[in-house]
Amino acid sequence: MSDALIAQLRQQIAQQGPIPLESVMGQAVQAYYAQGTAFGRDGDFITAPEISQTFGEILGLWAAVVWQGMGMPGEVILAEAGPGRGTLMADVLRAAAAVPPFAQAIRVHLVETSPSLRAAQKKALAPSGVAVCWHDRCDSLPDGPLILLGNEFIDALPIEQWERGPEGWHLRCVDWDDSAQGFCFVRGPSADQVGRDLARFGAPFDPASTKALPAGTIAELCPQGLAFAEQMGRRLVAQGGAALLIDYGPAESAPGDSLQALKGHKYFPPLEELGSVDLTAHVDFARLCQAARGVGAQARGPVTQGRFLSGLGIEARAKLLMRKATPAQALELNRGVHRLINSSEMGTLFKVIALTDPICPPPPGFEASVAP
Ligand code: SAH
Repeated sequence: MSDALIAQLRQQIAQQGPIPLESVMGQAVQAYYAQGTAFGRDGDFITAPEISQTFGEILGLWAAVVWQGMGMPGEVILAEAGPGRGTLMADVLRAAAAVPPFAQAIRVHLVETSPSLRAAQKKALAPSGVAVCWHDRCDSLPDGPLILLGNEFIDALPIEQWERGPEGWHLRCVDWDDSAQGFCFVRGPSADQVGRDLARFGAPFDPASTKALPAGTIAELCPQGLAFAEQMGRRLVAQGGAALLIDYGPAESAPGDSLQALKGHKYFPPLEELGSVDLTAHVDFARLCQAARGVGAQARGPVTQGRFLSGLGIEARAKLLMRKATPAQALELNRGVHRLINSSEMGTLFKVIALTDPICPPPPGFEASVAP
């Protein structure tokens, strides 16, 4: 556990009482990524671009087709939210080089809060020779047509948990338990006490659904994720473009506690090692799409990662690479693609949505998905 973070949280709790989970998770995630040691086989978890170069290459070709559908603007902002080690963008740029007019139009912007990950991204992208601009937040991206990619970005944004009490919903908070010398969950103030109108989020928060749920039920909201979808939706409507978000979670909103901590590829109780484990929660795709549609954007999907990548030809791409691969590299390629698309691995749990301006043609991979 990060000692500085514990001291900071304990002091905050001593001064103002139990802290909402959203605040604790936000601070823990920032502290965790500031170390910059999370990714890969030796880290705590492994993400799709770190599993196979084909993932980023397919996304690069996806972006090129979307750019064509946008009318091939002479300049397009190619942004990535939460770029990790920069592997995805490096693979995207390599694939984009196969479409020279697109490669020339690209202006790369990365949204990243961690200084050590920014350094890793700079190193990964140096060989591409492409100029890169960094931002702390998506709302400081420059104006203009945009293609934004985000892989496992939303799952790192802090969530609120609400607990069904005898009368209604209560904010779940984190307290310090002196006898156990550790953090623990407590039931915090009611939605009324914190001035939140939860009913507007629909099930399970509307009065009829709430009534049907037993006390103790947990339901989650990701206010920063919803704000991101709304802000991105508004921007896409006004300035054109598309955002592709890939993450893990169910297709339909449902109550439940999905907060999880991963360290060294193993699950941990989420409050046990705050700041030194990866804390994430399921992404509520339906709610994100709803938020973008609410401001006039088009939201497509979710489609499963397996269907999306297979539909865009990831297996054919891997076969092409295998022609020049050693037997060991070919095995690695096969394993990687299998892991990305197979239902028993990442193929079904991971899902993809696309937010676009309303006149954008259906992006590749979403042709069959129903438009609102
Ligand atoms: N996309 C990468 C990394 C995913 S991990 C991959 O697939 O490998 C989450 C990433 O989001 C990290 O780069 C982390 O530093 C960044 N991040 C987390 N919270 C953020 C926030 N609030 N704003 C910007 N970046 C954030």
